[in-house]
Amino acid sequence: MVSTEKAAIDRQSGAVLDVEAVRRDFPALAQKIHGRPLAYLDSAASAQKPEAVIAAQGRCYREYYSNVHRGVHTLSQRSTEAYERARARVARFLGAASEREIVFVRGATEGINLVAQTWGRSQVSAGDEVLITEMEHHSNIVPWQMLCEERGARLRVAPIDDQGQVIPEEFQRRLGERTRIAAFTHVSNALGTINPVREMTAAAQAAGAVVLVDGAQAAPHFQLDVQELGCDFYVFSSHKAYGPTGVGALYGRLALLEKMPPYQGGGEMIRSVTFEKTEYAPPPARFEAGTPDIAGAIGLAAALDYIDGHDRRAIQRHEEDLLRYGTEALSRLPGLRLIGTAAHKAAVLSFVVDGVHAHDVGTILDLEGIAVRVGHHCAQPVMRHFRVPATVRASLALYNRRDEIDRLVAGVRKVREVFA
Ligand code: PMP
Repeated sequence: MVSTEKAAIDRQSGAVLDVEAVRRDFPALAQKIHGRPLAYLDSAASAQKPEAVIAAQGRCYREYYSNVHRGVHTLSQRSTEAYERARARVARFLGAASEREIVFVRGATEGINLVAQTWGRSQVSAGDEVLITEMEHHSNIVPWQMLCEERGARLRVAPIDDQGQVIPEEFQRRLGERTRIAAFTHVSNALGTINPVREMTAAAQAAGAVVLVDGAQAAPHFQLDVQELGCDFYVFSSHKAYGPTGVGALYGRLALLEKMPPYQGGGEMIRSVTFEKTEYAPPPARFEAGTPDIAGAIGLAAALDYIDGHDRRAIQRHEEDLLRYGTEALSRLPGLRLIGTAAHKAAVLSFVVDGVHAHDVGTILDLEGIAVRVGHHCAQPVMRHFRVPATVRASLALYNRRDEIDRLVAGVRKVREVFA
């Protein structure tokens, strides 16, 4: 079925997410914190795990665990098959053309560093430019800064407006014949802004640049199709997408991966080794030196099965409803300023309370059983743009409910009373 037909049917399906059933899948949500039911509003930092993921990892260790790729014995073959099935599962989740385009990494951070250190070091020279945006997470800033410093290249930054949106003309203006790569986030973790990835990718590629998209905050929320987005690289972390920590994926267009030198040297990434010369394995093995996080990859595949086991449109509608509900409720509170009011947003409510430090807000909310993140969210340039040291960030997932937002709002009211 062509994707437009499928989208039309999904829109008509109008399926509703059974949030209570979803919540029963996540054992951690049932607990109390300081005597109150946990309201977990910190999934952008890391999401809770469904039983299916915990069980899949347990099964791996209990039933068929062994090192992958190098054994002839039965357990090694079983774990290798499960690990490679996980790679194919990630490829399907991202809409990649082939599982050979999927490299298992530790997470989004390592995926970006891998591209900067391999593609970047081999392709970026003195005088070249790397374009990022003002809303990037530090993990999509610092690796490029390191690369530019080493290669004598220039890091350029497309500014955002006061709603927290990349200004298209400014992005376009910074693209030129020296731009080797444009690296930008799909969804901002500090602001919730959804970037127009397809348009930004097309503009960058028209200027001759390669495109990396940081999908850390998009993978848990959207149906993804890297071929439709058109990007050359896409990274995400398992732990934000209901999977285990310590693993994630880098998608790279095969033609690019094939040209890239290795990242780290070691076992698994070679074809042959002599002391004189080593021949490298083809991708993705070339980029996976050493024993990988076998159970992690298997757990990630279980997480993707879990997400796709629901109507993706229903998840999106549910999260959009929560975001709208939360935005309206928080906007009505006096002395509260929302940071990040883009027209297209996902799953993030970032705000500051007049005269109260974000850390104090976070501590008082915790006493109410409400988990939010406070700080600069590894996006200090965003804080600088909005002239705040830190924000309170409530972030949403498929298991959240409106009543948790009501409790957040009541909690912030209480903060105002305490500090009045
Ligand atoms: N990019 C974005 C937008 C993020 O939100 C995060 C995590 N906060 C990262 C990259 C880094 O992800 P990880 O720490 O899992 O490597």
